[in-house]
Amino acid sequence: MNMIFSTGAELFDICKENNITISEAAVRYELEIGERTRGEIYSEMRLNLKTMKDSIKQGISSKHVSVSGLVSDDANTLLEFAPESVMGENLTKIVASAMAVTEVNATMGRIVAAPTAGASGILPGVLIEYAHQRRLDDEMLLKALFNASAIGVIIAKNASIAGASGGCQAETGSASAMTASALVEMRGGTVAQSLDAAAMTLKNVMGLVCDPVAGLVECPCIKRNALGAVNAVLCSDMALSGIKSIIPFDEVVISMRNVGRMMHPDLRETAKGGLAATPTGLKIAEQMAKEKYDLAKNSKRD
Ligand code: SF4
Repeated sequence: MNMIFSTGAELFDICKENNITISEAAVRYELEIGERTRGEIYSEMRLNLKTMKDSIKQGISSKHVSVSGLVSDDANTLLEFAPESVMGENLTKIVASAMAVTEVNATMGRIVAAPTAGASGILPGVLIEYAHQRRLDDEMLLKALFNASAIGVIIAKNASIAGASGGCQAETGSASAMTASALVEMRGGTVAQSLDAAAMTLKNVMGLVCDPVAGLVECPCIKRNALGAVNAVLCSDMALSGIKSIIPFDEVVISMRNVGRMMHPDLRETAKGGLAATPTGLKIAEQMAKEKYDLAKNSKRD
């Protein structure tokens, strides 16, 4: 049977007809499109998983301050607050892990784009910390990553995963949808529940604009990763509880694409609208430009 899927409906049919999970369908998709063996596909994913784990460790173990000063170790600040958090310690740790990875990204550390660098915290933050809390092994995590990749492929084929073309809904929204679906499979849910979780996650951030202050992937990006982690966990819970998405996953993806196309260019990573255009956002951008100019002037003199 052809294992190539482009929509959630096709993915569902493949899983049903072959009696396989989304993660297995993703591996078979990879086998069909490339010349890699199953072992090679797994080795590559294992490497991604290791990099993801390292980025969480790095983010939590050291204080991260970016050149702009906009990133200032918020992951650890939240972590210290965990015992008092209304979210509870487990979810707070998940969110802090997501923030830690994006802080590493903002300070030029090594991360895995999942699906992009700007949204790189959600997938590892949620899945790795959840696995750690539940003492799940790496095999389970690898399967979850394959599941997430299937959802990412469908969104990329039919809409967009980049803030520059679809706004933040496409970037952190896609990361959340991938994570929610993977989390459902990790927790023993069905294919339909995975697709429902992904749909609900995207619906929750429909219309979210991309408006990075001073054009840096720092503010509001790190906190959007925090929100994305909560969104993914919430939607996996909703799907597993039996709540369904009224709008099917494929229709949500197309709708997200259309909303992205309607978005003014000022709201698609150009740093001309939204939070980037607030008085404070503009002041930060001005300050950054001045510092860059002074640095270039001084280095010329040297
Ligand atoms: S605001 Fe833009 S740059 Fe920042 S995470 Fe969202 S899509 Fe990426």
